[in-house]
Amino acid sequence: METGACSAQDARTSGIFPVHVILMGAQGSGKGTQAALLGPELKLARIATGDMFRAEIGSGSPLGVELRAILDRGDLVPDDLTNSIVRGRIAHLVETRANGEGVEGALFDGFPRTDAQARALDDILADLHETVTSVIEIDVPRDVLIRRLSGRRICVGCGAVTHVESSPSSGEVICDRCGGQVIQREDDKPDAISRRLALYDQETAPLLDYYASQGKLTQVDGDRAIDDVHVSILAVIQLRTTARGAV
Ligand code: ADP
Repeated sequence: METGACSAQDARTSGIFPVHVILMGAQGSGKGTQAALLGPELKLARIATGDMFRAEIGSGSPLGVELRAILDRGDLVPDDLTNSIVRGRIAHLVETRANGEGVEGALFDGFPRTDAQARALDDILADLHETVTSVIEIDVPRDVLIRRLSGRRICVGCGAVTHVESSPSSGEVICDRCGGQVIQREDDKPDAISRRLALYDQETAPLLDYYASQGKLTQVDGDRAIDDVHVSILAVIQLRTTARGAV
């Protein structure tokens, strides 16, 4: 067992979380899809900054109006704002934990994306005497990413995500699940896709080295069926959690 690692029993009695997992990978690598499967299964609260920003946009607040312009261009939201939103979400998680609602930790999807965000996350967790447990990079070739992103469609009503190649009905403007309007996200249009992938290379990919140097990074092949990717990720998380003595 690593020095300073605690057992699950210790974790429960001292009120700290045993597991914090970061899903990394370029846009379109399937982080969101995998997070939606893993979160409930592992009792991890999902912290998906993109979803949080879209919720703010949906609320129609003045902040939401500013965020819409940033997201539509495919730019990154400023670090200070992103970090403070995540800090608030983790504080809420700590309260949830105190109420005994069975949350084992956090699953980060889309955060951190910059060096400043990675260091802020370390500080936030250190204040709680916690740390990132594992970082999983979902690796997908660039041409596959571009095909996935440019064909992606989303229902504004129920949020269902479809792809024009794999789901014939997603070429329609009406969702066959809820009757809502099916659209292409502004940031899934060609210019924004290039911008987002370039930002990933510049700002986010260097974080892989940061976590690799801490021995926390595992790469998983994301160019496979959703279930196969899921099984691989689950195995990595379970292995790392067991090695740390938290199960
Ligand atoms: P994707 O991973 O496909 O870009 P997301 O839903 O995770 O989709 O994010 C959508 C957008 O939200 C990003 O393009 C960016 O503008 C903003 N965003 C999300 N997470 C962050 C973050 N950690 N830092 C800065 N901006 C972010």
